[in-house]
Amino acid sequence: MKYIGAHVSASGGVENAPLNAHEIGATGFALFTKNQKQWTAPPLKEESIALFKERCQMYGYTPSSILPHDSYLINLGHPSDEGLSKSRAAFTDELSRCAELGLDRLNFHPGSHLNEISVDECLLRIAESINIGLDRTKGVIAVLENTAGQGSNLGFKFEHLAQIIDRVEDKSRVGVCIDTCHAFAAGYDWNGAGAQSLFGSGASGYENIIEEFDRIVGLKYLKGMHLNDAKKEAGSRVDRHESLGAGLIGLGLFKSLMKDSRLDGIPFILETPNPDIWNEEIAMLKSWM
Ligand SMILES: [Zn+2]
Ligand SMILES: [Zn+2]
Repeated sequence: MKYIGAHVSASGGVENAPLNAHEIGATGFALFTKNQKQWTAPPLKEESIALFKERCQMYGYTPSSILPHDSYLINLGHPSDEGLSKSRAAFTDELSRCAELGLDRLNFHPGSHLNEISVDECLLRIAESINIGLDRTKGVIAVLENTAGQGSNLGFKFEHLAQIIDRVEDKSRVGVCIDTCHAFAAGYDWNGAGAQSLFGSGASGYENIIEEFDRIVGLKYLKGMHLNDAKKEAGSRVDRHESLGAGLIGLGLFKSLMKDSRLDGIPFILETPNPDIWNEEIAMLKSWM
C-alpha cells in the first residue's frame, strides 16, 4: 500500500488540510502546521486539533500517510549562534505541533552552511539540532529531505544524509524523504543508464539510485517521498518543480516508484506547480500501483 497525495493548503486552519486532500482523491497528504514564512505562530487551538483528528479519521488518513513540512526559515546547520538557537527553538515547536496533532513525522530541509562554516561542521550542527529537538519532544520522527544542492544547501548527496543520521542518538526517530526533482537536480539522473552519474553526485538509473540509497542511507529510513518532475536538467543544482510528465524526468520514474514494493507504507506527496491537475496526477499514480 502506498499513500498518494499532495502538499495541500491548511489556510484557515490545519483542520482544512484533510478536507482539501479528500477533495482531490488523495490517500495521503502534506501540510504546514503553521505559516511557513514566519518564525513563530500562535499555538494550535483545541478545536482545530480535535477537528483535524476527526476529519483524518473520517477520510482514512493515518499518521503514516501524512508528512508535515516545517518552515523554510529554519536552518538547523546555521553558522551563527543566534541563527542556530532561533532555528532550534522553531524546529522544536514544529515537532511539538505534529505531536499535538497525533502525527508521527516532520519533514524538513537539513540546513545550509552559508559559506561561513565547513560542510562537516554544518552537518554536525544539523545532527546536534535534531538531537536537541528529539530530546525536548516525544514520538515524532525527524525526516531529512534530500536537496537540489542549490546555494549552500546541504543534503544533496546521500552521503550527507548518512553522515547526519550517524550522529543522531535515537535512530528510531530519524528518517529521510527523497524528493525526485531534488535528486535529479543534484545529479542523480533517474533516466541515466550507467552506474556512475555524469553529473557528480552518485548513481544514475532507477535501480542503481535506489540501491545506492539503500547502501549508503538504508531503505528502512525512508519515511516519505516528494514526487516532482524537473524543469532543469540533471546535475543543474537548480530546484524547479514541474508537473509529472511535463519535465525532464518524464513519467517512467513515477511508474517505477508506484510498482516498487520496497517502497510500500509511506506517503508519496506531489509538490508539482499546478494544483488544478493534482486530482489527475493522483489518479494516474494510483492506476500504476
Ligand atoms: Zn520536496
Ligand atoms: Zn523543491
